[in-house]
Amino acid sequence: MSDSKHPTFKLDDDKDVLGRLCALSWFDGVRGEYDLLVNVDEDDARELVAKLTAWLDAPRLAARDRLTGIVPVACCHSTGVALIQSRAGEWGVVDTDWLSMAPNIGLESTGAMRDWYATEVEARAAYRDETGKVICESCARFIDHDDAECDDDGIYTCADETACSAACAAKEPK
Ligand SMILES: [Zn+2]
Repeated sequence: MSDSKHPTFKLDDDKDVLGRLCALSWFDGVRGEYDLLVNVDEDDARELVAKLTAWLDAPRLAARDRLTGIVPVACCHSTGVALIQSRAGEWGVVDTDWLSMAPNIGLESTGAMRDWYATEVEARAAYRDETGKVICESCARFIDHDDAECDDDGIYTCADETACSAACAAKEPK
């Protein structure tokens, strides 16, 4: 056995029993060996996964209702779409109508929520699709398609190089 760190939990398939049974063990760092916590069948395993998932998701889902004071990362008034990030780090595309509503109104109940995304890349792609805007690869601002230049590799940058340089400079750490 190597000295590399042991995984905290270990699953073994117990083949000596009728049907499938999973042995969930926990690594006891003091004794340096695994302790069997529980044996679970398939139904128990599904229930355990569901409960752990719900527990893991709870802060992220709760943050969806705590958006007071959230400032959009990007906002396109002509198409009525905004990109936001919750306090739990989740990304969302919303109707700009919501921005003018009472801030304590939950997004989900207003109908202004379009969708939540696990990653920034997915959210920005959705925002791009809904607004027709593109991201400048230099300054990372959303700009109108007509205000962008596209090179042979399909990379968009600001047509206005002065504004682009100013935006890049503004992001430099002081
Ligand atoms: Zn730019």
